[in-house]
Amino acid sequence: MAAKAVVVGCGIAGLATAIRLQNKGYRVTVIESNSHPGGKLHEKKQKGYRFDMGPSLFTMPWLVDELFLLSKKNPKDYFNYKRKDIICNYFWEDGTRFSVNADTETFIAEAAAFFHEAPKTIASYLESNRLKYESTKTVFLEKSLHKSNTYLSRTTLKAIAKIGRMGINTSLDIWNSNYFKNPKLIQLFNRYATYNGSSPYKTPGIMSMIPHLEMDLGTYFPKGGMFQITKSLHKLAMDVGVTFSFDTTVEEIVIASGSATGVKTTNGSFDADIVVSNMDVVPTYRKLLKHQKAPEKTLQQERSSSALIFYWGIKKEFPNLDLHNILFSDDYKNEFKSIFEDKTLHHDPTVYINISSKEEKKDAPKGCENWFVMINAPGNYGQDWNALKRSARKHIIDKINRVLGIALEPLIAEEFVLDPEGIESKTSSYRGALYGAASNSKFSAFLRHPNFTSAIDGLYFCGGSVHPGGGIPLCLLSAKITSDLIKNA
Ligand code: FAD
Repeated sequence: MAAKAVVVGCGIAGLATAIRLQNKGYRVTVIESNSHPGGKLHEKKQKGYRFDMGPSLFTMPWLVDELFLLSKKNPKDYFNYKRKDIICNYFWEDGTRFSVNADTETFIAEAAAFFHEAPKTIASYLESNRLKYESTKTVFLEKSLHKSNTYLSRTTLKAIAKIGRMGINTSLDIWNSNYFKNPKLIQLFNRYATYNGSSPYKTPGIMSMIPHLEMDLGTYFPKGGMFQITKSLHKLAMDVGVTFSFDTTVEEIVIASGSATGVKTTNGSFDADIVVSNMDVVPTYRKLLKHQKAPEKTLQQERSSSALIFYWGIKKEFPNLDLHNILFSDDYKNEFKSIFEDKTLHHDPTVYINISSKEEKKDAPKGCENWFVMINAPGNYGQDWNALKRSARKHIIDKINRVLGIALEPLIAEEFVLDPEGIESKTSSYRGALYGAASNSKFSAFLRHPNFTSAIDGLYFCGGSVHPGGGIPLCLLSAKITSDLIKNA
């Protein structure tokens, strides 16, 4: 009889771990509180509009393909995507507008002319980002940082020796300001701190490797929208034999003689040889492992930012907008101070407008667009979210009207909102963090919870709150690292 594995939670990392473990010979059951797979990577339809609820930016699609190949399936039979030519449109209050072209040479030439910077400075910045990524990815993204054999390899030692020269002791903002003179170009590159829910004024300069993922490795759009990532992996998981129990909440991970032996749920008990938690690591310890000693230092790390999202069905098309559009704050530094220090929303937020109907016409009725309008927000600390949402809605609409020169309010045909409290309650993410712990310290990578615990045999962790961090690509890598730690059934 094959060994049994239980995965707690059907987020993207839970799904990927389940597929990997089933391929390793386990009989895998995924237990999910919601009635649907995907966790944050979910969708909602309303009156002819379809919205992706969470992630909108897709990078490193080959990490999804890898799961089909591992399962001896043709990825194209399940999941298709295309590379974007324009990465993002940026807008500033003074009327400046710049589009980032996906072709590196074109980007360098256009950015140099537009921002009055030397082409060779931009080229050397991009090259340094590439080198940072290439020399650290194996250690920081593809292996457990918490196993001694990781440190026995020459690659690891070489990567660690180089970190000191990668801006680890300076902020991303200072790192970028040392390269560029133009405040708008600095702001454009500072924004990448938000890709792991951090502040550019705190996260270390080593994070300038993030633009490499977009600008060199590319941004992609899944055919059918972001939720197709979830849908196709859920189908693959079923095809390889994973079983699912939806509408079922795990209440306890059962530990006997120092080993995980199963879970107790709202629908009865499931025994298992191994348990993998895809639930955020903080509630995993606080709720499911109440009688075990918790790693307090790890659990008390600062959390990443959250988000406030307005999903608007818009009765008009805007040819000057594309899939990804950013309307920058004029007061960027204070926007991050509001989020991370004052735990509130800034009156001039940076507004991100994602419109999947630009790529997928059926996501909105004819002549209309589906706007996912997001601002970065503090975590849920019990703020008065109704009051914050009311004022944010006004500030966002005013900003869009000013920057795009339109009158938005009468064009909003459909509307619903998701706030940090809602993100926390729908996915159990502690404080509604989008990416687990923040990367606002140079030690963040080392302080993230490992993908296992040496205190309990047979208990593992995957997903955005543990190593190597949040975002779809890192969650998929966490599933790989976790399953690599588990021996075949
Ligand atoms: P989650 O998606 O958090 O799923 C965890 C699952 O576990 C949930 O389904 C939950 O219901 C379930 N669960 C929890 N507790 C229990 C329990 N006790 N019993 C049973 N089930 C349980 N990433 C990008 O790459 N690009 C983006 O553009 C991007 N934008 C984002 C925008 C928003 C608004 C949000 C919310 C996130 C965004 N992210 C983005 C981050 C990305 O969505 C996450 O990092 C990733 O989806 C997290 O996946 P996960 O597997 O860790 O778990």
